[in-house]
Amino acid sequence: MITVIGSINMDIVVETAIFPKQGETVLGTSFHTVPGGKGSNQAVAAARLGSDIHMVGAVGNDAFGKEMVSVLAAENIEHSFVKQGKKATGIANITLFENDNRIVVVPGANSELNEQDIDAAKSLIEQSDLVIMQLEIPQETVEYALGVCKEVGTKVLLNPAPAESFKVEWMDRIEYFTPNETECVEIFKDDVDQALEKYPNRLIVTLGSKGARYFDGDKHVFVESFKTTAVDTTGAGDTFNGAFAYAITNNYSIEEAVQFANIAASLSVEKFGAQGGMPQLFAVLNRLK
Ligand code: ADP
Repeated sequence: MITVIGSINMDIVVETAIFPKQGETVLGTSFHTVPGGKGSNQAVAAARLGSDIHMVGAVGNDAFGKEMVSVLAAENIEHSFVKQGKKATGIANITLFENDNRIVVVPGANSELNEQDIDAAKSLIEQSDLVIMQLEIPQETVEYALGVCKEVGTKVLLNPAPAESFKVEWMDRIEYFTPNETECVEIFKDDVDQALEKYPNRLIVTLGSKGARYFDGDKHVFVESFKTTAVDTTGAGDTFNGAFAYAITNNYSIEEAVQFANIAASLSVEKFGAQGGMPQLFAVLNRLK
């Protein structure tokens, strides 16, 4: 059983051929609402592979909140610790323009997830094989949850996005740490090799279309990605994290788990939307052969 403590957002995506100048109104070409938020994305990624997932988070008392809870339910994610906050459900307002994008995130109810909510979920955390977190909820809540995980002896996978909320002093409470290359350099202020050598078998750096790497204590291990044609790389990292968590809690070695996560993430980039391409177990196993 895995508990995900994290954000739940609705992504509001508009595409436009003309980018509006200041004060200008233009007609766009398409509009979609797509479930997102790193917390719920990683929960969905692991649940689709067959993990027993419990989500701790917050949504607003509004239509997006109801929709996001039904998304979790449809993925068999247990959501009794998803509370209804006072603020609106978190959103990411995404404008796609040619090969460019502009994104405004409003955390809303995600910013209301607090220490009491973590205390309420303490026995759930204690029963879990792994807790997954990211940094789209308040920094104090993440810090508190890390303390609770340590107290009850549950391992943590932390995906440090956005990286600016991360504190390096948290490293001794984290079993698996999964920044992308940019986040890794931003956090450790070292080159990637040096950072990896400090945290053998714990720091796994994802490298986009190249794959991922870690240091096993003796040597650097690079696990190449599965080469594919990407349609939408949104949520690639989230799929990697959910799949890595599935694999680790099913007793895969780190190398096998990274390989499995690369394959799952390669499948996810072949379809539109963060959650749209997240694969089921059989699809990953077929590609692993
Ligand atoms: P994030 O989405 O968090 O920025 P990355 O860009 O490093 O993270 O991608 C996470 C993982 O997704 C990679 O380690 C890789 O397995 C997979 N991935 C990302 N982009 C591609 C791609 N174009 N083709 C195949 N796999 C990809």
